[in-house]
Amino acid sequence: MSQALKPLLPGSTLGVLGGGQLGRMWAHTAQRMGYNTAVLDPDAHSPAGLVSHHHIHTDYLDPAGLKQLAAVCQAVTTEFENVPADALAQLAAALPVSPAASAVAVAQDRAREKAHFVKCGVPVAPHAVIDTAEQLAAVSDNLLPGILKTSRMGYDGKGQLRVTTRDELNAGWAKLGQVPCVLEKMLPLASECSVIVARGRDGAMVNLPVQRNVHRDGILAVTEVFAGNVPDALANQAITAAKAVAQELNYVGVLCVEFFVLADGALVVNEIAPRPHNSGHYSQDACDVSQFELQVRTMADLPLMQPRLHSPSVMLNLLGDLWFAHPSGANASQAEPAWHQVLALPGTHLHLYGKREARVGRKMGHLNITAATPEAARAVALQAAAILGIAPF
Ligand code: ATP
Ligand code: MG
Repeated sequence: MSQALKPLLPGSTLGVLGGGQLGRMWAHTAQRMGYNTAVLDPDAHSPAGLVSHHHIHTDYLDPAGLKQLAAVCQAVTTEFENVPADALAQLAAALPVSPAASAVAVAQDRAREKAHFVKCGVPVAPHAVIDTAEQLAAVSDNLLPGILKTSRMGYDGKGQLRVTTRDELNAGWAKLGQVPCVLEKMLPLASECSVIVARGRDGAMVNLPVQRNVHRDGILAVTEVFAGNVPDALANQAITAAKAVAQELNYVGVLCVEFFVLADGALVVNEIAPRPHNSGHYSQDACDVSQFELQVRTMADLPLMQPRLHSPSVMLNLLGDLWFAHPSGANASQAEPAWHQVLALPGTHLHLYGKREARVGRKMGHLNITAATPEAARAVALQAAAILGIAPF
């Protein structure tokens, strides 16, 4: 399976579709390693565009923009899964693109994603695909109560409705515009975790340690990573499943696989993200290779190395809500959180994405906390959370 790779050495230019925070942190990492970066994003103020050598602000499917991107760089990746698969396919005619359009297309569609998991022999939530009124009528009662999710374009819990009865299900599908959906049985979750794998063009694969995640209102709030954060057997099962999912897609790049852990200890795969993931941000400060360096290495055909977690860590997501932490009635004013107090705590690493405006629910940054022991990391994270107005976890 090993084929000789000709690496793109530092000095080359690497490109990304999408200019959000994931693209920004990828660009910082690529530049640290000596690469130039190019970003294609329609927004002139995109977080990644602001820090890149080249910023092409056209639509993702604009032929002139894609041509310009292909002209300035030697390899391209993506930082969000809803990039039109056609843009990746057009670029692939001109230069190496990772992940491939075919893999991103699976991640863009919950129904295809679920079918892929089944093919890999990885357990999924009981579910039904609802593309038509006939399929809606044929849904088994056994899937209720459930969560109705649009097959495409969902993120951070958007495009999802909880439904308990058949009437609610019917009304829910109408509310979602009768677009293709997947109905998933509501499962009794004990916890959630995720695994990030990186796979090279030669098939070599490495993984970050298993991340234990806390979601609030459908958005990731906290990630904890240290030895024993999940039982060993479960961790091994999750890593094996994540690698199978990547292998079976013939995936090249960084892939995140999200899992549910059920009350009885069973592991169920939820979904994949064909890029670095919010739950992998701790790797910037707690591992000797971050998820963003793995992305650079896979796209430049550099050797992959198995990352080592050198510090127990906790990541706190910093949502725009924190800028409004002390609302004063109707004149709730926006104020910068007390970073100076947080940064006085040992082992705190602040990452802000340079977004110009804070909005409730908007991902503005994250705080990584590293310490010598899991207990110490947790204690500092709880102190930081209290200062910032984040609920304890
Ligand atoms: P993102 O892409 O940002 O991770 P999303 O919008 O794709 O989010 P999901 O990952 O499908 O949404 O669901 C968001 C959260 O809702 C999950 O992390 C979990 O907490 C809860 N959830 C989703 N599906 C189920 C289920 N079948 N049973 C119980 N809880 C669920
Ligand atoms: Mg999710």
